[in-house]
Amino acid sequence: MYRLNQFILSTLFLLLFVLQIDSNLYAQQLSGKFTIVIHGGAGYFPKDSKDELKQQYISSLTEALNIGKNILVNGGTSLDAVEKVINYLENNILFNAGRGAVFTLDGKHELDASIMQGKDLSSGAVAGVMIIKNPISLARLVMEKTDHVLLAGKGADDLGIKFGVDVVSNTYFHDSTNYIKWLKSNLPKQQGETVGCVALDQYGNITAGTSTGGRQNKMPGRVGDSPLINAGTYANNNTCGVSATGWGELFIKNTVAFNISALMEYKGYTLKQACDEIIYNRLPEGSGGIIALDKDGNYEMPFNTISMMRAVANSKGEFKIEIWK
Ligand code: ASP
Repeated sequence: MYRLNQFILSTLFLLLFVLQIDSNLYAQQLSGKFTIVIHGGAGYFPKDSKDELKQQYISSLTEALNIGKNILVNGGTSLDAVEKVINYLENNILFNAGRGAVFTLDGKHELDASIMQGKDLSSGAVAGVMIIKNPISLARLVMEKTDHVLLAGKGADDLGIKFGVDVVSNTYFHDSTNYIKWLKSNLPKQQGETVGCVALDQYGNITAGTSTGGRQNKMPGRVGDSPLINAGTYANNNTCGVSATGWGELFIKNTVAFNISALMEYKGYTLKQACDEIIYNRLPEGSGGIIALDKDGNYEMPFNTISMMRAVANSKGEFKIEIWK
């Protein structure tokens, strides 16, 4: 009997000890600090747009921000936050990503997306997909389940089928508003409403992601900056995470997202100095903008167009949505 009691007691002590270690580890891992920034595209959204339309964008961005914030508050990862926020925006017809993707010159839809983790520079991207409902989720699978970074066209669509992601017909992306816009527009023009998200989670990890239908009336096969790591998306836990929106060709030529990180790493710039240098000094006026955050949770959302739909939430209690300067 005595031995049995001894055994029960020591097992209990051992259990308590293990639980204690476990909760200490848990407490150490969660910093209590997080930041999330979202964009819904840089462009020319007129200030005098109908109140109802403005309200639709604001409530969609609020919903997206709440999705990401809830994941981060509850100790979820920045990777999940970025994917889920972008999934919501991809399923929302208002944005030029997923469901609301713009038209190519031949009246079809080709979608691009990329995602990158700052903890190990792991990255995944898809370009020119035509039947993938949520390109950002396929980009994540490219990152997690293949040895590649970027898959394009049919190969990417086929991989989506193989991985069992939601597949739709290309006409799923034809919504009537965009269809009318496309019919009326002959020339390629600056098109906003691309979506992006960058998050810093309570483990200190940064993830950045971007998803788009590209530019209205683009040539079939045209690939912009959004699926290109270094141009449209970049993340490095030692510096920052960035998601870009704007005239993709210029963002590719200026290696926008990576250059912001490089200015911080090589030149000791602050996040604000690095973002301002690229957006206001290197890129021409009217070309676009970025959302970015650094490892300490500071954030920047500069743009040189008329509007950039954007949103931020953090553990300091900030929660705001903005469209114009
Ligand atoms: N950067 C995107 C592209 O060029 C478009 C945008 O952000 O509006 O494909």
